[in-house]
Amino acid sequence: MRRILPEGFGQAVWRGFRGRCPACGEGRMFHKFLKVSDACPHCGEELHHHRADDFPAYLVIAIVGHILVPIVLSVETHIPPPVGVSMALWPSIALVMALSLLQPVKGAVVAVQWFGGLHGFDVAKKARQAAALL
Ligand SMILES: [Zn+2]
Repeated sequence: MRRILPEGFGQAVWRGFRGRCPACGEGRMFHKFLKVSDACPHCGEELHHHRADDFPAYLVIAIVGHILVPIVLSVETHIPPPVGVSMALWPSIALVMALSLLQPVKGAVVAVQWFGGLHGFDVAKKARQAAALL
């Protein structure tokens, strides 16, 4: 299968953010919500080397917090809704934002590891570099 390697770091991370294989941009990176496929179903690039662990969750917490907290503070100071509305609204928005961002952020983290040749991705990266020199 034809593999079109990313032009640079940004494209690889964008492919991962979209849940696509960072190597070809076609195959799906995830076979379940947060389970990364062992290999790309399109190009066969091994993806099981990733060690994302809890880092995507920490990033999502930071992103959601930086977006939502200023909005909550602004709304609650200027047009405070009833307490019941606040108690239902803000946690719901935070939950939706967190669940929406978790898979894309994990995909981006895996793509960063793939691009940098971290963990077990170094063998494939060296092979790509050797092929590029030929
Ligand atoms: Zn692929």
